[in-house]
Amino acid sequence: MSHLVTLIPGDGIGPEVSSAARRAVDATGVKIEWEISELNADLIFKTGESLPQSVVDSLERTRVGLKGPVTTPIGGGFSSVNVALRKKLDLYANVRPVHSLPGVATRFQDLKIDMVIFRENTEDLYSGLEHEVVKDVVTALKVITRTASIRIAEYAFQFAASTGRKKVTAIHKANIMKLSDGLFLRCCREVAARFPAIQYNELIVDNAAMQLVVRPETFDVLLLPNLYGDIVSDLAAGLVGGLGIVPGANMGDYHAVFEAVHGSAPDIAGKGLANPTAMMMSAALMLIHLKEHAAAARLQAAIERVYAENKHVTGDVGGKASTSQFTEAVIAAMA
Ligand code: ATP
Repeated sequence: MSHLVTLIPGDGIGPEVSSAARRAVDATGVKIEWEISELNADLIFKTGESLPQSVVDSLERTRVGLKGPVTTPIGGGFSSVNVALRKKLDLYANVRPVHSLPGVATRFQDLKIDMVIFRENTEDLYSGLEHEVVKDVVTALKVITRTASIRIAEYAFQFAASTGRKKVTAIHKANIMKLSDGLFLRCCREVAARFPAIQYNELIVDNAAMQLVVRPETFDVLLLPNLYGDIVSDLAAGLVGGLGIVPGANMGDYHAVFEAVHGSAPDIAGKGLANPTAMMMSAALMLIHLKEHAAAARLQAAIERVYAENKHVTGDVGGKASTSQFTEAVIAAMA
């Protein structure tokens, strides 16, 4: 059976890493019919549409997407299409597995880091509701709802229960944001009470940042509202070797869009330097979602073999290989 998947190349390093991931997926032997859907900063500037209907239509049809990053202008310009897409399709759970890869030199390489981050994906300070009250006075609305908090907590606990994970850590700042983070925390506690076999603890986000650096191996499942989830994800990526190697999934009840944690990295775009590992591992998560478990395992194992050999890895993880040399090595490792 062939699967219909929307492939969004994105911009910056997006086209390079997404074409590498596509080649790697095709090399697993799984039959995918790729529906290419353009979504990039140029197109948005040209059409004035921050989320082109063609992209939404394609994802409505296929229900599964593999997406490269799309640039979000800083401090002005159009609002994030990545955020818009997650809201439009109600992709409420952002799932980011962070684990050590063999052969990657990091400050923590003697430790086995293996955590999964569950970031609420639809609200919080990502509401985009900012307001200039008077000149030089601006407010931004942090939106936290019971519905969204309960469902991300349920998603995290159900994942923990079904994968044999032992502990869920909710991360918050409810000592300061007593109402908003207080509500998030109450929802986490309520769901935790339904999963007595899973250990549950809470950390204030600043302490969590320190604990993640001091004792990263003690973390298992992390459960966070949107903004802390974004920041903690990059911190966690730094623990295992950087943004080039951390995959992600945006999950809703009807759609799933798989994308790396990293952004469009304009500083290295078009130079053949980008590490496609995060995108390939996002594609492996997609294969699991498509119930192609053997192919997902083959792809993941091939990536890990290339890292263990340490001959064809990219510059961000200490090697000299180009994007395409790494890709060839992964494909060869599958053969
Ligand atoms: P955004 O806010 O859009 O998510 P970001 O803050 O995560 O973006 P990136 O665009 O991902 O930022 O880039 C941060 C740094 O990490 C850049 O210097 C970039 O070169 C590096 N980087 C990101 N992704 C990769 C990759 N796949 N391979 C190599 N380096 C990368």
